[in-house]
Amino acid sequence: MNSGFPPLVDSHAHLDSSQYDGDRAETITRARDNGISHILTIGCDLESSAKNIAIAEEYEQIYAAVGVHPHDATEINAAALDKLRLMLSHPKVVALGEIGLDYFRDRSPRDIQRNAFREQIRLAKELKKPLIIHDRDAHDEVVQILEEEDAAAVGGVLHCFSGDLAMAQKCLALGFYLSFPGPITYPKNALTRNIVKAIPLDRILVETDCPYLAPQKYRGKRNEPAYVRYTAEKLAEIKGLSLEDVARITSRNCFDLFTIGTVDQSSKIAYKIRNSLYLNITNRCTNSCIFCAKFSDFVVKGHALKLTHEPSVEEVKQAIGDPTRYAEIVFCGYGEPLLRLDLVKSVARWIKEQQIPVRVNTDGLANLVHGRNILPELAGLIDSISISLNASSAEEYQSLCRSAYGKKSYQAVKDFIQQAGQYIPEVRATAVTYPGVDMARAEQVAQDLGVSFRAREYHEVG
Ligand code: SF4
Repeated sequence: MNSGFPPLVDSHAHLDSSQYDGDRAETITRARDNGISHILTIGCDLESSAKNIAIAEEYEQIYAAVGVHPHDATEINAAALDKLRLMLSHPKVVALGEIGLDYFRDRSPRDIQRNAFREQIRLAKELKKPLIIHDRDAHDEVVQILEEEDAAAVGGVLHCFSGDLAMAQKCLALGFYLSFPGPITYPKNALTRNIVKAIPLDRILVETDCPYLAPQKYRGKRNEPAYVRYTAEKLAEIKGLSLEDVARITSRNCFDLFTIGTVDQSSKIAYKIRNSLYLNITNRCTNSCIFCAKFSDFVVKGHALKLTHEPSVEEVKQAIGDPTRYAEIVFCGYGEPLLRLDLVKSVARWIKEQQIPVRVNTDGLANLVHGRNILPELAGLIDSISISLNASSAEEYQSLCRSAYGKKSYQAVKDFIQQAGQYIPEVRATAVTYPGVDMARAEQVAQDLGVSFRAREYHEVG
């Protein structure tokens, strides 16, 4: 597939809908031509589940989910569960759904909805399949049932997420993803966009829910998988990322959740985010920060950063390729770049010869590591430096960052920040919004040191 668009997954479509009876094959071709690499087509009852399996059998890039929607909850009995059990053994069936509670339309009695929801969660756990959850005006009970049934054992996704931020955080804590459809593009839907903004992209999926919920550009018309791109574009705008970033990250999320596609596990020395190229030159650190995501996962914005070895200068240059393709090149990665000071200087010199700005993201402890003031050595090589201040006191710093240099580290970071401006044109202090950190005081410390300050969202760390 080479459509010129970054490949995206439509994680929730209803391709069995009679609205596609006249042009289903053309709709699927249009999706492929628009870069939609995979589609999940979702069952709502036994009949539609069977139809979706037939569609998935016909097209390599289409997978199916089977389940009974709360509207049809009265369909659930022992025989229906046996039929679902059989369907779930099909190799193209990757999830159980959509199931849940719908207290907006109340098409089935609520006690029957709850029972069908619980029974199907138990089936998913028996067969180790992720769940696709429908929730309409039943937020508290949906979360309560997910918790009581230990749905976290299989995980899944809250499709067309419509809860508030508190609910979003509960679902994330249960290990669930949240999926967003076309309405995030509607001008009046600021509430949902605020939730998207507040949660990590590595827990978000995009979907169409087609033929329903067309994005703004086609509002009121029939929706189709090709249009998932408009939702992804809006997501990129909200997150300040490129469409390519959103496509890579949300596709990876789908591949992980539904065990489809191919997850790129190759370790990256250089990786692109927006128009910047980031360099991952070591996984070693002076600190061992309690908020560091590398202790649970070495993936940053869809890039695998666990190094097999520390790259040489030549390997780093090769990984960069042509520096002039990027707006800036940043020494960052999952590790402290200034532990490899000689390599940083050598590669930065080569990049600067090509007139491309160079930035370093650092913990600010390099002077302790090297036993001298290394800042003069960076003069003329580095255009900007972002230094992790992370705290407003030595005690707070040590409890968060657990530095190998102990309590003197915080003062060393502050000294580094203060002196950096003599050698590097742009200096910024940062702090991670870890619960309990006094951000206002940390910002005040940065101001007192005479530099700008940026709060890094806890979930963006890495
Ligand atoms: S947050 Fe940065 S400095 Fe802290 S342990 Fe992780 S990579 Fe190292």
